[in-house]
Amino acid sequence: MVAEIILNSNAKELNKVFDYNIPETMAYKAMVGSRVFVQFGNRKQLEEGFIIGIKESSEFKLKDIEKIVNENGLSEEKVELAKWMARRYFCNVSECIKLMLPPGTTTKVIENRVKEKNENFVSIIDEAIVENDIEENKFKSAKQLRILKFLLDNGETNLADLLLFTDTTRDAVKALEKKNYIVIEQKQVERNPFLHKVEKQSRKLKFTEEQQNAYDEISSKMDKNKYGEYLIYGVTGSGKTEIYLQLIEKALNNNKTSIMLVPEISLTPQTVDRFIARFGEDTIAVLHSKLSIGERFDQWNKIKNGQAKIVIGARSAIFAPVQNLGIIIIDEEHDSSYKSESTPRYNAKDVARYLCDENNVPLVLGSATPDTSSLYRTMKKQSVLLRLNKRANNAKLPTIEIVDLREELSKKNKSMLSEKLQEAIKENLENKKQTILFLNRRGFSTFVMCRNCGYTAKCKNCDITLTYHKSTNKLKCHYCGYETKVITKCPECGSENIRYFGTGTQKLEAEINTLFPEAKTIRMDIDTVSKKNSHEKILTDFKENKADILIGTQMVVKGHHFPNVTLVGVIAADGSLNMNDYRANEITFQILTQVAGRAGRGEDVGKVIIQTYNPDSFAIECVKSQNEEMFYNTEMRLRKQLKYPPFCDIIVIGVSSKDEQITMKVAQSLHKYLKDRVEKENIGIMLYKALPAPIDKIKNKYRWRILIKCKFGEDIIYLMNNTMEKAQTIKYCKNRDANISIDVNPTNMI
Ligand code: ADP
Ligand code: ZN
Ligand code: ZN
Repeated sequence: MVAEIILNSNAKELNKVFDYNIPETMAYKAMVGSRVFVQFGNRKQLEEGFIIGIKESSEFKLKDIEKIVNENGLSEEKVELAKWMARRYFCNVSECIKLMLPPGTTTKVIENRVKEKNENFVSIIDEAIVENDIEENKFKSAKQLRILKFLLDNGETNLADLLLFTDTTRDAVKALEKKNYIVIEQKQVERNPFLHKVEKQSRKLKFTEEQQNAYDEISSKMDKNKYGEYLIYGVTGSGKTEIYLQLIEKALNNNKTSIMLVPEISLTPQTVDRFIARFGEDTIAVLHSKLSIGERFDQWNKIKNGQAKIVIGARSAIFAPVQNLGIIIIDEEHDSSYKSESTPRYNAKDVARYLCDENNVPLVLGSATPDTSSLYRTMKKQSVLLRLNKRANNAKLPTIEIVDLREELSKKNKSMLSEKLQEAIKENLENKKQTILFLNRRGFSTFVMCRNCGYTAKCKNCDITLTYHKSTNKLKCHYCGYETKVITKCPECGSENIRYFGTGTQKLEAEINTLFPEAKTIRMDIDTVSKKNSHEKILTDFKENKADILIGTQMVVKGHHFPNVTLVGVIAADGSLNMNDYRANEITFQILTQVAGRAGRGEDVGKVIIQTYNPDSFAIECVKSQNEEMFYNTEMRLRKQLKYPPFCDIIVIGVSSKDEQITMKVAQSLHKYLKDRVEKENIGIMLYKALPAPIDKIKNKYRWRILIKCKFGEDIIYLMNNTMEKAQTIKYCKNRDANISIDVNPTNMI
């Protein structure tokens, strides 16, 4: 028998199937998905690979497989998925397979690792330097190289795990520490992602009518063992989670496994607790990036061996080794974290769709502010819309007021807080209620605006806010390349009060502390939550009333339930509104609606005050009137007019290299290739010329890109795979001086 093997390699030229002979003594172990070791070319070390097919014979003279390891093999279904993804996302099959392997895969099987209270943790000091030095072949020791690559892939790891997973020695780690590549720190740990015991039990609630209707629709699909896609579009607090819980219960009763994806940032114990309270800890597995590699490995095994029948996790949990899938639920489906922005550049929603279809089970997306693309799917009848209009526990929707910041300026109020917001905070403090102050940092500090009239410079071709480039002192459109001089005087009102935008949480906290010295504040931003579990600690402290005011960025937005919060203040809504992205309105509407949803979740009616320089923007008006329908209708109309998704797809072909000339040359030659194909074959796409990317240099690499608008489908997949192949014939790509990526509808247009 002959095995078709994919080598575990990122090298484009190795993204092929190689045939190997299966020795008779190994025949019983050889299966699709098996991990194998083979001799490749004239390399000394054995190479790792995967069997992706088995056949009778081959026309070539073959080498034998050296070794077959089955413990960590993949199911046939996962191999098919990897092949599908490789074609769909223009990457190597092995790069997709990696997502599906147990965390930190190695030939060693890990058992009975002891739980210690204090462990040594190893982390890389500067990833950019390590990446660079690996590329320049600075590491002669294979062990040191394995350690660094492992840490790059998996982040901070405890020393014992690191040695096991990489099959290396303490000496190798010490050597790297001496060379200042890594640090070893002692930390207290608990090898259990369920940080505290959940004592409370929750029983299922009696559904409201709206909930019941939604549940029945999906449940009947489960009974019929059929695929179907659903979008539960329900205001914050409308009881979506209760529907998920009962759908999962139904799957559980049929002995089937459920996957529930939530955004990384909201995967806190509070979220998980609701599931534990209903189903108990034993049947639940949690997967996310803050877990240590050992914890991840344990959770993965709990799924693989069938103990865990409910998988809760961030994006990559979609690849969990479940058997007998019953349903996939994606909560907060509008969240951008479901799309991967590094190779493989997959969208977990697409993968979920594929898996549900293969398994004949329903896919449920849920949000209070759905993605326009998901709504569009319901309009095209590719998905069923299920609306929940009322809050489940009869909590009232908050009142929303808009403060025009242009007027504050004319009142000579230079504070970040308007008079109205200051008043409201004062009142709230007096009533012993809590306040959340939200700083919208999306699109941070890259645009200029007139403080007098709210004017921002936009591209005349694309209607996208122009981005300020400090190095050239110019304003630039990141879509078409249009650029103009920086304005010093407002073209609308003549004012010279032009400002570069960006304000920080620290500054805000300092201001609050001056204005309200008696108030206790907690700040939540990238700086304060980077440590493990600190994110939860802040939220728990706030929930337990240990502070009066929570100041934060996006992180405060995600589905938390703070019954004592009656006031939410948005410092400036304009950040996201002016980001250089066609989704600026949608993201603004989503963020503001979500943040407003934090107010008044208890018995008191909540109050939301939104400060903005653009009170007339329709996104803000729709948030104010809580008129979602008007928002989506207007936005859809604009998208259609300007030919943006969901009415078309945007493909970004990225080229990067350390050499600016090479980057440009490769980008231009790919553009020429595409242009010829498009003209000759009359392919209906909009091809933009090759341009430097908005951030044209990252980690010492120059970046160019080609933008394409099209209707993504089989013909485009074909064309893009051809383009990738074409790229491999360019000498700079062949010798890896330049790197190519192709991304469909990236969430980040930088
Ligand atoms: P969402 O996920 O849409 O934000 P949740 O499921 O968190 O909504 O529900 C919001 C609140 O309403 C929770 O406190 C929940 O316990 C409560 N709730 C949900 N469904 C019901 C119901 N059918 N009857 C009573 N309370 C409910
Ligand atoms: Zn102006
Ligand atoms: Zn433009």
